[in-house]
Amino acid sequence: MDLTDAVDRDRLLRTFLELVAVDSPTGQEREVAELLERRFADLGCTVTRDEIGNLVAVLPGTRDGVVLIATHMDTAGTDRGIVPLVGADGVVRTDGSTILGADDKSGIAGCLELLTLLRQDPGVLHPTLELLVTVGEESGLVGSRALDVTRLTATHGFVLDTAGAMGSITYWSPTSVYLTITFHGRKAHAGVEPEKGVSAVRAAALAVAAMPLGRIDPETVANIGTVHGGEARNVVPDTVVLEGMARSHDQGKLDAQLDAMRHACQEAAETTGATVEVLAEEIYRTYRIEEDARPYREAARAIASVGLPVIPRKSGGGTDGNLLNAKGIACVALPTGMVDEHATTEHIAIDDMVLAARVLVAIVTQDPDPRDAR
Ligand SMILES: [Zn+2]
Repeated sequence: MDLTDAVDRDRLLRTFLELVAVDSPTGQEREVAELLERRFADLGCTVTRDEIGNLVAVLPGTRDGVVLIATHMDTAGTDRGIVPLVGADGVVRTDGSTILGADDKSGIAGCLELLTLLRQDPGVLHPTLELLVTVGEESGLVGSRALDVTRLTATHGFVLDTAGAMGSITYWSPTSVYLTITFHGRKAHAGVEPEKGVSAVRAAALAVAAMPLGRIDPETVANIGTVHGGEARNVVPDTVVLEGMARSHDQGKLDAQLDAMRHACQEAAETTGATVEVLAEEIYRTYRIEEDARPYREAARAIASVGLPVIPRKSGGGTDGNLLNAKGIACVALPTGMVDEHATTEHIAIDDMVLAARVLVAIVTQDPDPRDAR
């Protein structure tokens, strides 16, 4: 029998609801980590955790090969006490007061369903599975950044952590840079001797007005998201801090965009007599997996085998996959069925969760491509 047909909708839903009910806002993953440690061990895995809390569960293979399957255990923001509601329409959502946490508990539920099926049917051939569940993904890929990949032996893998149509393969993701821009002026009494002051607000305003922002080109976006500064209406402000970001799928275009933003800051500082510091921090780096590369081929074959169209997807955001690729493990990212992640309208259709689990089972149990035989 084809193991993908054995995915149990009710069991998968139960697992998902159980995971969602355990609070795990980013940075506070202990409780869910302990639950996962037990669940993975009960399903035959050797489970270890690193200093930061990333969990790695290893299931020995029944044939050659190793594959990495990555998810994250933290949820976005600070929401606690999540109550999932299963609608008559087959969609799980909340009452709208919190996120759902399908990002990424739906991915983890799929992994547990896979392990359950393999345990029930020990004759099935599959490679060794390295199941990575990171912490701190939502606060800037903290867990995968700290991950020592020498703990893993896989050279390719799959990140179960995107929205998008079922059947999509995220093969191309941008580089993201966080910007912190600080303008320093000079304080003075604005009513008595404004001539002695240098307004950091004016410098910052000139800089922002002169910067290219928004959608720059098909690959590149930029934003200034926060402005903080000044003390009182009658004091010439001496400090303003701008926080922003820039992303591009093209490293050269991103570098040009960052140069343009720096240039606007320097011009504004010179015009006003202020000084400026621009701090640019790369949060994750672009990756692009070609169609003939192993993770893409394996995902595409599995997706087609369960009757879905294969949809190449270029994402506007990053996942742990960006850091895993940067660290030498070639990964594509796959959808779990989640919709509106990070919002209180977040929801997931049970049918999509089942499809995602079937794709995962197919990836792991399909015959290896002769091209990859050593
Ligand atoms: Zn996620």
